[in-house]
Amino acid sequence: MARIAYVDGRFLPISARAVAIEDRGLQFAHGVYEVIKAVGGRLLDLDRHLDRLDRSLAAIACPPPMARPALVLLLEELLRRNRLADATVYLQVSRGVAPRNHAWPEGLRPSFVATVRPARFPSPSEQREGVRVVTFPDERWARCDIKSIALLPNVLAKQKAVAAGCREAWLVDRDGLVTEGASSNAWIVDREGVLVTRPLGPAILGGVTRDVLLELARGAGIPVAERPFTVAEAVAAREAFLTSTTSLVLPVTRIDGAPVANGRPGTITRKLAALYAARCGLASATEE
Ligand code: PMP
Repeated sequence: MARIAYVDGRFLPISARAVAIEDRGLQFAHGVYEVIKAVGGRLLDLDRHLDRLDRSLAAIACPPPMARPALVLLLEELLRRNRLADATVYLQVSRGVAPRNHAWPEGLRPSFVATVRPARFPSPSEQREGVRVVTFPDERWARCDIKSIALLPNVLAKQKAVAAGCREAWLVDRDGLVTEGASSNAWIVDREGVLVTRPLGPAILGGVTRDVLLELARGAGIPVAERPFTVAEAVAAREAFLTSTTSLVLPVTRIDGAPVANGRPGTITRKLAALYAARCGLASATEE
C-alpha cells in the first residue's frame, strides 16, 4: 500500500511533490519537527512531544499550525489511513511560504507536513549485544535545545559513523565533554555506579526518552547525576547507552573502537531498557 502523507490540509501519496519552492523550511531550514512513536495505535508521551514542539515553535517565532486537539485527531487519522498501529510519526512545521527574503512578512501561515511509517525499533540482537559509537567534534550551533530541521552537522556525523560501522556518532564539545548523539542522548553509569547524562541546556536536545528514563531511574532507586562527562570517562565507565524515541534504550559497548568495561551491556542499562520497554508496551530483548 502506498504511504499517505498529510500536507497542509490534504492527504497525499508520500511520493507527491507537494511542497512549495519558496517554503522557508526548504530555503532557510526555518522549521522544526517532532518524532513520536505509536505502539498499538497509541501515540506515546504525546503531551511531552507536543509541549516540546510548542517550545521549538516559540523559539523560531512560528505559531502552531493548528490547535492541539485537531493535531492529535489528524495524526490518528494518518495512522488509520496508513493502516499502521506500530509506527514512527514524523511531523514538521515550517514558517510558511513567502518570496525568498531573510526577513518574513507579518501574518505568514506556517506549513505543516506529517508522515508515518512502520516502526523499526532496534533488533533483538542490537538490544542484547549493544552497539558501537564513534566520536566527532560537535560542530552544531548554540541552540541545540530547539528541535530544528537544520540538521546538517548531525547528518554528516551520522553518515561518518555509519561508514565506520557504527550505529551512532557521539558529539564532543570544545572542552572534550560529550554533548549527545547525532540523533540520541548519551548516558554512562560511572565508576561509582551513578547514572550520568548531560544536564539540559542549549548544548543538547532535551529528549523525551531522556526525561522518561530519568523518572524511571529515580523511581527504581538508581542514583542519578545530570552532569557532563568526557570520552575518556565514558570508555572507562561501567556502562554506556543511548536513548531516543526510535532507538529506545540501546546499550553502547564500544566507543571509538575501545570496549566499555567488558564490552557487554551492563546490568543497569538492561534494567532501564526493560523498564522503558514495559512502559511502552514493547517486548524487551534485554531481559535475561
Ligand atoms: N538528541 C538529538 C540530537 C536528537 O535528534 C534526538 C532524537 N530526535 C534525541 C536527542 C532524543 O530525543 P527523543 O528521546 O525525544 O527522541
